[in-house]
Amino acid sequence: MKLAVFGNPIEHSLSPRIHTLFAQQTGVEIEYDKILAPVDGFAETAQNFINQGGKGFNVTVPFKIDAFNLATKHSINAQTAGAVNTIKVDGDALIGENTDGIGLLNDLTKNLEIDLQNKIVLILGAGGATRGILLPLLQQQPARVMIANRTASKATQLAKAFKPYGETCGFGLEKIKNDLVDIIINATSASLDGQMPNIATGIANNAICYDLMYGKQTPFMDWAQDNNASMVVDGLGMLVEQAASAFEFWTGKQPETQAVIEAIRALND
Ligand code: NDP
Repeated sequence: MKLAVFGNPIEHSLSPRIHTLFAQQTGVEIEYDKILAPVDGFAETAQNFINQGGKGFNVTVPFKIDAFNLATKHSINAQTAGAVNTIKVDGDALIGENTDGIGLLNDLTKNLEIDLQNKIVLILGAGGATRGILLPLLQQQPARVMIANRTASKATQLAKAFKPYGETCGFGLEKIKNDLVDIIINATSASLDGQMPNIATGIANNAICYDLMYGKQTPFMDWAQDNNASMVVDGLGMLVEQAASAFEFWTGKQPETQAVIEAIRALND
């Protein structure tokens, strides 16, 4: 099966290694390439790949919205997120899925054994990743999901859009109070720039702190450790889980993820 990941940049993507491990494990034959698409040429590059026999692909920064527009059908996760990270070629149809949220959920509930029901969750950031994780998170019936963002209006808009799925509220980062929460998810891209969102410290006390960023210790993870978080986690498990969900979407085979998470973590250490 001919598969690929599209992005710009793409050189550092771990997806080919992850999918190769899944393929070895499940006995499915795949060829999985990294493809650099020009920033203004995603649709054309993807169409060339399909014309050459491509059966499915992942999409990363900055093409998740372009992929949403390219897809001819959308899953409920893709629809609510307004973004697509996985496409399956099905005859003439291009089916768009968003596995980011399922990936985070599986890492939290399956790998880390965290029960989200009745928990208070604080998400930092209101970008594409937050859009992708909100529906699967709300389906776990937390007591409340609070979205705090540097640009407050984006947080309030997202909270409003997802109200039908559960208890949500949105505000600016500066409005975060020192009240305790159960889980803090850093879904900002601040870690990419080695920065920490400017927020109150008391909230980390006893909370599970999860940074979507992976591959290195981030300022958010340092902050969480310094402020008595009960657990501090990076996004590598989410990365492998979102890939597993995409692999199953394409092949119908569900890979086992624990050994793959360990293998990829060992590569990064
Ligand atoms: P977007 O560019 O869509 O959104 C970025 C968000 O970060 C915005 O809310 C922005 O706020 C906020 N932000 C940026 N810099 C700062 C800062 N210095 N302080 C406070 N807030 C800041 O990015 P994505 O949502 O696509 O990705 C977010 C992160 O999630 C990235 O680090 C990405 O690598 C990671 N990710 C990890 C995945 C995994 O599998 N582990 C999967 C998907 C994403 P504003 O609106 O004000 O600009």
